[in-house]
Amino acid sequence: TVFFMDIRTFGKEFDRYFARAEARARLHFRRCMLSTVKEAPSGDLTLFYTDEGGRHRAEAFDLLVLAVGFGPPEEASELAQALGMDLTPLGFPATQPFAPLAASRPGIVLSGAFREPKDIPETVVEAAAAAGMAVRWLGRPEPAPEPAEVEPRPWDEEPPRVGVFLCDCPDLQEALPLDRLAEAAQGLRDVAWVEKVPALCQDGAWDRLVQAVEQRKLNRVVVGGCSPREVADDLAGMARRTRLALACTEAVNLREQVAWLHPGDGEGALAHALEALRMAVGRLRRVPDLRRTTQPTAARGDLAAPTAAVLVVGGGLAGMTAALALAEWGIPVHLVEQEPVLGGLLRRIRRTPDGREVRPFLEDLVRRVEAAEGLTLHLGTRLVRTEGEPGRYRSLLRGPGGEEAWVDHGAAIVATGGREGETSRYLRGRHPRVLTQLELEERLAEGTLERPGLVAMVQCAGQRGQERAYCSRFCCTEAVKNALALKERFPEAQVAIFYQEMRTYGFHELLYRQAREQGVLFVRYEPGDPPEVREGEDGRLQVTARDPVLGEVLRLEADWVVLSTGAAPGDHAPLAEALGVSLDGNGFFQEVHPKMRPVDLARPGIYVCGLAQGPRLMDEVMVQAWGAAARAAAFLRRVPKVPATRVVVNEKLCSGCELCVRACPYDARRVDLETRRAYVVQSLCQGCGVCAVVCPNKATQQVGYEHAAVLAAIDGAL
Ligand code: SF4
Ligand code: SF4
Ligand code: SF4
Repeated sequence: TVFFMDIRTFGKEFDRYFARAEARARLHFRRCMLSTVKEAPSGDLTLFYTDEGGRHRAEAFDLLVLAVGFGPPEEASELAQALGMDLTPLGFPATQPFAPLAASRPGIVLSGAFREPKDIPETVVEAAAAAGMAVRWLGRPEPAPEPAEVEPRPWDEEPPRVGVFLCDCPDLQEALPLDRLAEAAQGLRDVAWVEKVPALCQDGAWDRLVQAVEQRKLNRVVVGGCSPREVADDLAGMARRTRLALACTEAVNLREQVAWLHPGDGEGALAHALEALRMAVGRLRRVPDLRRTTQPTAARGDLAAPTAAVLVVGGGLAGMTAALALAEWGIPVHLVEQEPVLGGLLRRIRRTPDGREVRPFLEDLVRRVEAAEGLTLHLGTRLVRTEGEPGRYRSLLRGPGGEEAWVDHGAAIVATGGREGETSRYLRGRHPRVLTQLELEERLAEGTLERPGLVAMVQCAGQRGQERAYCSRFCCTEAVKNALALKERFPEAQVAIFYQEMRTYGFHELLYRQAREQGVLFVRYEPGDPPEVREGEDGRLQVTARDPVLGEVLRLEADWVVLSTGAAPGDHAPLAEALGVSLDGNGFFQEVHPKMRPVDLARPGIYVCGLAQGPRLMDEVMVQAWGAAARAAAFLRRVPKVPATRVVVNEKLCSGCELCVRACPYDARRVDLETRRAYVVQSLCQGCGVCAVVCPNKATQQVGYEHAAVLAAIDGAL
């Protein structure tokens, strides 16, 4: 049983996660006010609380787990004193206006929960952003030397000796009988070694694999654990260290593709996992060494050099912040904005939650972007198409007059923002005094709001299961900010906020408390029983809501109704298609991993920040933009001079029929006019494999999906 006051699952997809948890049998959520805990003579712990109906209750438990949250670290004040930086009254470091990571003392960058309590995705992004800021002060360091190219040892002259390594992490232990899986894997043909390795994502875990490959003379390696994308870098590092070809390694996704498909069904998961291992082992047993029969396509000399520039799409707060950061690091940037002016949604925001004027900051930001060296602005411009490969992208831009131009860039950042959400409920669009929070903010700033008697705010309007499924995360803080601004301007005005949960997280909780102290009335409503807004006969607005605590219906006459409609995604589909990346179920760009890689999109070298990834507050947008810029800059330094070969042609088998030339959707196939043999234009090839499928002579093979290996994998599954 989880006892709570407000469920603050405001992160991306967290509401869905909560809904899944709530649907589970034997997991109960209880909204209440806790009073005390007592130990019974039996040793049980009795919890006393007041439930939603105001009844006093007691329940006994074996174990009590307290969600105590975060406080500043004990040594914070000592550290602050040593570094000469200020702390806030809460004991966390003070930051500079519009620079959420900058400590009060210039030259000190803050990051993670030390700055403010936060979740994993924000911590990960903030770490990248902080590193980027520190680099700005230090000047741009020389690129780290690329790992030396290691020619993999030949492998198809010796009998296969396959090593199978299973990640022994708690996630998999819970879902799969790993010991039995290891035992079964031992019986697979040509498997010479099976080992469970404690958590492959931990430092040093891959050293064990290197050791085992050397000691056991393994020449093929299967790793069963997280997704192949998660382990790709470590797998490549292990292969390099042991001189194994990457083609001789395989990552089997035992988590998302096995364990998660069989919740509570260990036997089903075991059978599925064994099948996946059989396929992987089967493939590796038959994987051919293509070097014997083919020329590396890079030898054709068609490879463009990597481009050390970044394309930033979107000129709002996120795009401008990212572009400026990159320009300050000396990286050439193309900033593309479809509107004729910069600023995006930020042009409509007038104050930060802590009451600072946004306009002067915006004007200064635009000035700095316009003046930045190495930053090319493309206003009124859209991205039409992106070609090439990570590190060597080129994009076609269409300008305001329809003129088109190609730009080369090694990486890209999507910062296309979003728009204010809308709703058709609560008389929105049918009564002139029903506003959105942004409209209220604009009226307050422009002085066009008539003195109100009572303002009613409705939270989650059109959100969280209404027109949009998700929580926009920022609109509870926005509502409290506007309520305080109303109170400041019209102290006698009454403000009532109808809410499901107040998600004023982090330090914004202080604003919530301040609003309560200033007499703002907070009335909770149930998701299935939202307030009703009607127009009375006198034309005034009437708001009716059932208070679930008192069980009574509350009726108010309001001068204004203000709806917290949050944010909606822009029309991202054409851009996602042009870039070859995906959108999530809500229409925002889909990051690779919500916690560990929150600004990476699926295509390497393409990142996302700001509202394009999901709704968030202004300071979070800035941090995320810095994080995306830092990721893009780091990526550019790692672009290999020669990218991986994806398809190869055995010239002895090629008849020059040109079927592959006609089939290739990326115009990456040519036939040499002299030799009448096909070859691959490496810089255009996307590795889709179509050419390998259409080739009637099996002259083309896709690396990693060689004909013999694919058939062996299928055999393994049958
Ligand atoms: S008002 Fe906005 S931030 Fe608050 S709970 Fe609803 S959707 Fe989430
Ligand atoms: S068909 Fe696909 S794999 Fe083959 S050359 Fe073209 S892009 Fe590359
Ligand atoms: S389809 Fe095969 S045989 Fe025909 S040109 Fe292409 S590689 Fe050569």
